[in-house]
Amino acid sequence: MSDCIFCKIIRKEIPAQMIYEDEELVAFKDIHPVAPVHVLVIPKKHMVSVNDLTDGDAKTMGSIFIVIKKLASELGIAESGFRVVANSGEDGGQEVGHLHFHLLGGKPLGKKIG
Ligand code: 5GP
Ligand code: ZN
Repeated sequence: MSDCIFCKIIRKEIPAQMIYEDEELVAFKDIHPVAPVHVLVIPKKHMVSVNDLTDGDAKTMGSIFIVIKKLASELGIAESGFRVVANSGEDGGQEVGHLHFHLLGGKPLGKKIG
């Protein structure tokens, strides 16, 4: 989508600290990290949120979690622990309308999730 900020990052039209890329996914550092490790893992296909997922996206969603697992290990938070978050819609606190998964870790994140 032409005016989507994450699509622009995928197309390299705006810079990001990219840490992973393959045919269907990219991962880059969040511009305003809330934890020592704060990475966004996103599909290259523009979808606004979890609400847009179809059966055809099942493989991509599986790949996202496999990449998250690998990045957690590479970034040194696999053993200490981490959190994966996908905010969706207004009540979910979603600000960027391109489906993304936050990978957070590197400090105790507490128990509050809502
Ligand atoms: P949301 O609230 O939609 O789940 O999270 C969007 C995230 O995207 C926020 O944590 C925000 O800091 C991050 N973000 C927004 N714009 C940019 C950007 O241009 N570059 C990067 N790297 N992260 C961004
Ligand atoms: Zn997009």
